Amino acid sequence: MDLLIINGTLINSYGTLHADILCRDGKIFQIGKNLAYENDQIQKIDASGCLIFPGGIDPHVHMHLKTNSGYSADDFYSGSRAALKGGTTTLVDFVTPEKDQTLIQATELRIKEAENSLCDYSFHVSPVEWRTCLPNEIAKMVNETRLRTFKVYMAYKDTIGLDDAEILLVMRAVAKAGGMVLLHCETGDDIESKRKQLIAEKKLSPRYHPVSRPANMEATAVKRAIDLAAEAGCPIYIVHVSTKMSLEYIQKAQSNGQQVFAETCPQYLLLDDASYEGEFDQVCGYVMSPPLRKKEDNEALWEAVRTGIIQTIGTDHCPFKLEQKRLGRHNFTLIPNGAGGVEHRMTLLYSYGVLTGKISVNQFVSLTSYNAAKILGLYPQKGLIAAGSDADLIVWNTEKNQVISVGNHHSQSDINIYDGFKTKGSPDVVVKNGQIVYVSGAWSEFPGRFLETNPF
Ligand SMILES: [Zn+2]
Repeated sequence: MDLLIINGTLINSYGTLHADILCRDGKIFQIGKNLAYENDQIQKIDASGCLIFPGGIDPHVHMHLKTNSGYSADDFYSGSRAALKGGTTTLVDFVTPEKDQTLIQATELRIKEAENSLCDYSFHVSPVEWRTCLPNEIAKMVNETRLRTFKVYMAYKDTIGLDDAEILLVMRAVAKAGGMVLLHCETGDDIESKRKQLIAEKKLSPRYHPVSRPANMEATAVKRAIDLAAEAGCPIYIVHVSTKMSLEYIQKAQSNGQQVFAETCPQYLLLDDASYEGEFDQVCGYVMSPPLRKKEDNEALWEAVRTGIIQTIGTDHCPFKLEQKRLGRHNFTLIPNGAGGVEHRMTLLYSYGVLTGKISVNQFVSLTSYNAAKILGLYPQKGLIAAGSDADLIVWNTEKNQVISVGNHHSQSDINIYDGFKTKGSPDVVVKNGQIVYVSGAWSEFPGRFLETNPF
């Protein structure tokens, strides 16, 4: 059935337009003023007074993640449902192979795990060990599976992390295949020795989590990643940048013309390390890596978001339940790392970015969908409101006041790091592939689709 959205204010990265939108067969068919349309077989939405955004793309989520503490609290179904409620219609998750699996095998399994997603979905693929056949696997991923982004971890060396020499080899292979490398930048060896030292000193409460992985360990890794990428001639994307120090290296590389993209997350813009002071149950939810930093880092990140040094806002959505976090009650290094946020990304950025005057509504679209689509190869299918693009549209009520809480969120976790945050602005209606999937507190469930990516 066709869908006509009338009287909205359409917000794209590159401009604003008052117009109607006609959706047909899952795509935006036509945009124009007073679209005349005579047909019984049509659904109509009056978006008077509302803004219309392209459906959000969260470039960094971990649904149904297997860990030593059990699976993360949200699977693809519950996580994508929460995402839709918040205006995000596309998720990019990760393929993390077991040591004996090829990238292709692991990806096929992961695509199956995501079949109950209500959002469209794609993946970054992680080489977790070097092997001589890896360049072939990478080329196959790019050319056949059409996934082009490969994530490596400089931390977690005892499990999925790679050392610098291996990262350089991966970067060369990815550059040759026409892909991009994403990096988790923290110097793994330094963190390991710091953690051992803290344990030996019996400093075991969550307040030592940020002490164990200080800002300079991220920034040093960022610098190394940039240098390795320059040597390999490989475009890179640095995930969850959390410190001012890292931004200086990123900005310098960008101004030298190197292809270095950067992402941050709402938690690094809005929360700081004061959250680690208190009773275990109150603070364990904030244990994530990288950790929350200082207020001056928040400010520097906002400035980088405003000026475009940072192009995307992901959430690193990976919530756990309190019961799981309590595994580290007597030793912070055993607390599963991660927090939720996929539902709140857009409303937080709107409330604390747009409404405070830090960014414009057009920048909001750049940060929540357009840039991710362009950088990750989902453009022009996603990330803009234009004829021919997927009809993923958010009818945004600018007046709706809400308070985020564990009681009203849709994650399956019983922790919410934004509990008590006041927000203004949220979706009244969410349209995905031309179908109304969320309206006034109710979902209509249509399966999401696996998205291949386009050459950069
Ligand atoms: Zn992550």
